[in-house]
Amino acid sequence: MIEIRNVSKWYGPHQVLNACSTQVAKGEVVVVCGPSGSGKSTLIKTVNALEDFQQGEIIVNGISVGDRRTNLPRLRATTGMVFQHFELFPHLSVIDNLCLGQMQVLKRSRTDARARGLALLERVGLVAHASAFPGTLSGGQQQRVAIARALSMDPLAMLFDEPTSALDPEMVTEVLEVMTDLAREGMTMMVVTHEMGFARHVADRVIFMDAGRIIEDCPKSEFFDHVEARHERTRLFLSKIL
Ligand code: ATP
Ligand code: MG
Repeated sequence: MIEIRNVSKWYGPHQVLNACSTQVAKGEVVVVCGPSGSGKSTLIKTVNALEDFQQGEIIVNGISVGDRRTNLPRLRATTGMVFQHFELFPHLSVIDNLCLGQMQVLKRSRTDARARGLALLERVGLVAHASAFPGTLSGGQQQRVAIARALSMDPLAMLFDEPTSALDPEMVTEVLEVMTDLAREGMTMMVVTHEMGFARHVADRVIFMDAGRIIEDCPKSEFFDHVEARHERTRLFLSKIL
C-alpha cells in the first residue's frame, strides 16, 4: 500500500531524511517513534506530498508521490492525514469541515457529503455537535472531528502525526479508542506516536528513527520483548519513556 524506497531529504546542507526505506502493507498498523528532530513528521508528510524529497521514491497504492504528473489533491484523498494540532477550518461548522473536501475533491453533492459526514460523526460519537464550531469543542473532540474528516474522503490509508500529544491526559484515551477501532476494522495506518501502550496493543510493526535514519523496523513483539537486542539509541529512548 505504502512503499518508501531510499528516501533522502535535505534542508540546505542539513540532511533530515537519510536513505529511509520501509513499507506498510494493506491493513497493517505501523508506529513510528524516535527522539525530537529525528525526522518522524518529515517522513510521514512525504507520504502524502506535504513535504518533498530529493532522492528516492514513494509509491502509494501504485501512484508515485514524487511524480510531477500526480494529481496531489487526489493523492492526498487516498491517504488521510491527522495532525497534532487538528488543523480544522475554524470558520466552518463541524459538518461543513467534513463536507468541504468531499465536495471539492470527490465532487460529491452536498446531500451525499452531509450524509457521509453525519455517519462518520455518529461513529466518533459527535453527531450532536455537527453544527458546532471547532473552537467550542474540547481538544479530544476536535481531534475526533479531524479523524472523521480524514475518513470522509474514503482514504486507503491513514497517517497520524502525534495525534494525542497536544491533548490533556484525560482526552488521550477517547482519541486512541477511535484509532484502535479503525485499526481493528482493518485500516492501513502509519502513526507517529510516543503512546507505547497503543504501539504494544495495536501496532503490527514499530519503526524507530534517529537523526533522519530508520534504525529499527521490526514486529512489535521483537521491539518490546527483546529490548536487549535493540540498537543502543533505541534502548536509551525506551528506557526514558517506558
Ligand atoms: P518532533 O518529535 O519534535 O516532532 P520530528 O521527529 O517530527 O520531531 P521533524 O519535524 O521531521 O522531526 O524534523 C526533522 C529535522 O528537520 C529537524 O532537525 C528539524 O529542525 C528540521 N526541519 C524541519 N522543518 C524544517 C524547515 N522547514 N527548515 C529547516 N529545517 C527543518
Ligand atoms: Mg514531529
